[in-house]
Amino acid sequence: MDRKELIQKYLEFFKSKKHAIIPSASLIPENDPSVLFTTAGMHPLVPFLMGQKHPLGKRLASVQKCIRTSDIDEVGDAFHHTFFEMLGNWSLGDYFKKEAIEVSFEFLTKFLKIKKEMLAVSVFAGDKTAEKDDDAAGAWLALGIPGDKIAYLPKKNNWWELAGQTGPCGPDTEMFYFVGKGKPNKESNPGTKENEWCEIWNDVFMQYQKIEGGKFVPLQQKNIDTGMGVERTIAILNGINDDYLTDTFLPIIKKIETISGKKYKESTKSMRIIADHLKAATFILGDEKHIAPSNVEQGYVLRKLIRRAIRHGKEIGIEKNFAKEIAKSVIGIYSSDYPELKKNEGFIFEEIEKEENKFKETLEKGLRKFEEMAKSKKISGTEAFLLYQSFGFPLEITEELAKEKNVEFVKKSDFESEFKKHQEISKVGSEKKFKGGLGEVTEETTRLHTATHLLNEALRKVVNKDIKQRGSNITPERLRFDFNYDKKLTDEQLKKVEAEVNSAIKKAMPVERMEMTVSEAVKQGAQAMFTEKYTGEVSVYKIGNYSVEICAGPHVANTKELGKFKIIKEEAVAAGIRRIKAVLE
Ligand code: ATP
Ligand code: MG
Repeated sequence: MDRKELIQKYLEFFKSKKHAIIPSASLIPENDPSVLFTTAGMHPLVPFLMGQKHPLGKRLASVQKCIRTSDIDEVGDAFHHTFFEMLGNWSLGDYFKKEAIEVSFEFLTKFLKIKKEMLAVSVFAGDKTAEKDDDAAGAWLALGIPGDKIAYLPKKNNWWELAGQTGPCGPDTEMFYFVGKGKPNKESNPGTKENEWCEIWNDVFMQYQKIEGGKFVPLQQKNIDTGMGVERTIAILNGINDDYLTDTFLPIIKKIETISGKKYKESTKSMRIIADHLKAATFILGDEKHIAPSNVEQGYVLRKLIRRAIRHGKEIGIEKNFAKEIAKSVIGIYSSDYPELKKNEGFIFEEIEKEENKFKETLEKGLRKFEEMAKSKKISGTEAFLLYQSFGFPLEITEELAKEKNVEFVKKSDFESEFKKHQEISKVGSEKKFKGGLGEVTEETTRLHTATHLLNEALRKVVNKDIKQRGSNITPERLRFDFNYDKKLTDEQLKKVEAEVNSAIKKAMPVERMEMTVSEAVKQGAQAMFTEKYTGEVSVYKIGNYSVEICAGPHVANTKELGKFKIIKEEAVAAGIRRIKAVLE
């Protein structure tokens, strides 16, 4: 079975179980400053898991493109990637635990024809705060999974919640496939012999509400949230135990073999890192948000991915530029499902080549400098910072070099403090923010969210009628709004925009939420982020007769709640894209 067939089978199966199929959202989350990238299929669905009604009903399924920066260190093994596709199905207050497990089991054994003997599961073991998940274990036993193939594991493994936040949470059950030698022994399960098992699917049971003080109370709307990795599942279905040898990676690996003249068998780790990192880079560049390599936020992650791949390319003897060739083969695998890759091909090629050229100017010299520093068998945070500043080595590359050459890394924290001195910390620090999460929904962010709609409209009224939103990011302190426009806004234009928004606020207009079909919304002149593909009914916010936008919210009830709007910055983010930062006083 290949990738396309698995995805098709999954979505068809859940369609037959009355799930509406929703499209893959952008890799760059909208209005969620807590994460840089979409890390799971549930991420774009957060408002609906929190109780908002989804226009397509209570049962949903999707295939979602995901990026996990938290897994970058694992890349190099057979099953962890920076970019991967996640299949998922959701119940929003509809079916719950027993049914979810039965449906997962039916799909695995009947549709994918996986032998029961090759499966094992884990369930939550229980602790002081929440009880052991006997319901989940019972459901598996009833389906014929033997007791010795059910591992009871602690919160670290089998619990989902949002760090430090209140909100929905609960236990989960993970499904594993045997990747050891021969057949699984009686005593082997994901608790006793972790390495013999590869996790392919996770069913999360959102059944509790975490309240102030860290206590758990039963949740009103109980949800199911599941995630299944495409690459891993394809590998095990083909009995390969290596994602890189499936159709999700093989054309890329072959290309690397041709370019380098080396064999995958001999240069496995470097080739995996190159394939993984440049695939992720291609998807980030190909996203409609037009992220380019930079020293901040998503742009810095992108830069690190490309640079680390280039370093490994050099490691396996590649002399000429190769990143663009790899990007081509990534686009070849995925563009029929993600047309944005083809559409943005020019941008991808140009930016990836630019970054490769830039890094190659300093890579050689930087490596020599590292060798020199490493003579003492020690490298310090301050030296690592010098490598960053003078030769563009991200900390991760220096760390990796140190590990490879058995050089001790001392006073790593000095890197951070040097960095801070150079006032970059706030930008890079955002990458380390909570990795799984929800955007904060507070009074401040809600007000800024409504102000964003007013700004969007004001720009069209005052500056240019063709302006469209290209991105938005809101923290409790400020809003950030990206839009297409090819010139710097003059001070006069900015003043006019500010005045326009403030006059809209003063009109004390009501903010109304409606549900309608996309074509109805478009007929009403609704603004929509062009990066999203909409199906069925959507949620639309109308501010008086001033603004109409397709949007999931949340918003204030009346513009008079906003106070005074003030623009604090206007700048370029990419060719043809401007950014405004603004606050409410
Ligand atoms: P693992 O423990 O193997 O890192 P996880 O517990 O982090 O997995 P989940 O967050 O439950 O995984 O994600 C759901 C599914 O997505 C997993 O069962 C797996 O199939 C897939 N998945 C998760 N992380 C990755 C990754 N980095 N690369 C490829 N697939 C992944
Ligand atoms: Mg993980």
